[in-house]
Amino acid sequence: MDTCTGCGWRAPDLHGSAAGGGRWPSATIPLHRVRDRGEVTSAIWLGVFAAPVWIALLAYVVLMLRMPRGGLMATAFLVAIGFAVLARMAVEAFIHAFVKTNGVRVSETQYPDLHAAAENFSSRLGIRQPDVYVMQSSLWNAFAAKLAGRRVVVLLSGAVDSVIRGGRREDLGFLLGHELGHHALGHLDWAQRLLAPGSWFVPVAFWHRRRMELSCDRVALACAGDLEVATRAVVNMTVGSCLAAETDVGEAIRQWEQHRGEFFVKYRTVYSLHPHHLWRLAELKQAAIELDVAFRR
Ligand SMILES: [Zn+2]
Repeated sequence: MDTCTGCGWRAPDLHGSAAGGGRWPSATIPLHRVRDRGEVTSAIWLGVFAAPVWIALLAYVVLMLRMPRGGLMATAFLVAIGFAVLARMAVEAFIHAFVKTNGVRVSETQYPDLHAAAENFSSRLGIRQPDVYVMQSSLWNAFAAKLAGRRVVVLLSGAVDSVIRGGRREDLGFLLGHELGHHALGHLDWAQRLLAPGSWFVPVAFWHRRRMELSCDRVALACAGDLEVATRAVVNMTVGSCLAAETDVGEAIRQWEQHRGEFFVKYRTVYSLHPHHLWRLAELKQAAIELDVAFRR
């Protein structure tokens, strides 16, 4: 196993005994190395735009307390915040109730290969294993959430079916690794929420969101330890299950390189919450070189 003397990164051991069994690597994933550098830069800028909002809010509270009957107004303000928090908790409980009763939870006996992957990836990412559900929906999508205090990953059948039909079942590891990445990188935690007021400046908020997605692709790549698994999943998302297998990934990446500098491509990127699919393919290839992730056939 190769180890970087600089940061301690160990190249994935594709033949090692994976925690949870199966074909997954066993090496710990260093999040500081896997996190996209643009995510950090965009988070700093989002913080810059969030700071005036927090300062204005603080100034408003201080001003309120100095006014006659300020104590009463401050109490009303705090009560309003309390209601907002309660409303959010209620919404989360509702969504959680829906997921728990409409999706099937992955376990040692329910889709054991998915459970083994979730166990392996969570262990290597240093997080407690979230509850993973598979739920019916025609959308090619999946999501990570914190619902009523529990970490949850939901894989929608639109993506699951397509990945299994057009690739290999192990390609679901990319889907799962990406969503676990959101949990491991703290995208659903309080520190991230502190940045949210900066979202009034939409281009920076969207920039940060795109870089978070690219970070999670890198996490998923490291989880799978296999560029081919990652590209198969993203190609599937791009063209669907029928043509995925015969898609020339190299040509698709060259297509991205050909168009990436065009004005309307750049303009559209500014207002995209997610990185373009062909961009994701190009970034994965670059990340595989940077993270020394194997390409297997
Ligand atoms: Zn994501």
